[in-house]
Amino acid sequence: MIHIALSTKCGDFSVKEVFQLAKELRFDGVEYILSLNDLWTSPKKVLEYSAFYKVPVISLHQPLSLAYYAPPVLFETLLRAGRHFSAQVYTFHLCSLLHPLQPDTFPHIFLEKARRYNIDVSFESNPATFPLTLLSPQTYQPHEFAAFCKHYNLPMTLDTSHIAKSKGDIVEFYTANSTRIPVLHLSDFDGHTQHLPLGMGDLPLTALLQALKKRCQNTTLVLELHHFPRCESPEDKIQALKTSLLFLRKFL
Ligand SMILES: [Zn+2]
Repeated sequence: MIHIALSTKCGDFSVKEVFQLAKELRFDGVEYILSLNDLWTSPKKVLEYSAFYKVPVISLHQPLSLAYYAPPVLFETLLRAGRHFSAQVYTFHLCSLLHPLQPDTFPHIFLEKARRYNIDVSFESNPATFPLTLLSPQTYQPHEFAAFCKHYNLPMTLDTSHIAKSKGDIVEFYTANSTRIPVLHLSDFDGHTQHLPLGMGDLPLTALLQALKKRCQNTTLVLELHHFPRCESPEDKIQALKTSLLFLRKFL
């Protein structure tokens, strides 16, 4: 079964507006990016939006301020915060755990904790942008990232902009690794700007979606759009969102 979610980081829309948009445009749910506050207090507001709009949180993402480095002392807190939601999967940037400052803690310690909390985690690669390229190649080079995840049997979150920015072929990457990809972060990329609405860049998204459809496995597709060029008003951005969603639905 394929589910389509809207990321709560979407242009300059607020989290509440994203829930409302997800309701109006009939997404299956949202991918909620936790805030730092959620690590220590109950995410009451978010649960209220989810209940009010009847839009479930079907996927989670670690707080962005910890996406490049998550100290081991916070591993349990990060995982525990995920338990407020019924999301099927929780994405972490590989670099935040596989960090030069903590060579011995990942993957064993983190994975053991995730198992204990009964949370399905998945790992995302970075785009090859400076200074992220100073970190180990497994965190941003598509082939090395895939080989590392295969070696440790880790699920992967395929972010189309990140893989393309690192000069990877998104269709080839998906086809070679599809059985270990439970989540796709979908956006277009024009060679300069990442996370564009679908159709505003030049990624082979049609071929990717055709390959995905053929595999017919449980997958969560997350529209992760940060930039809306040539969209002046909120209405223009909503239109670009609708166009992206139509593009997706055409294939699924
Ligand atoms: Zn992403």
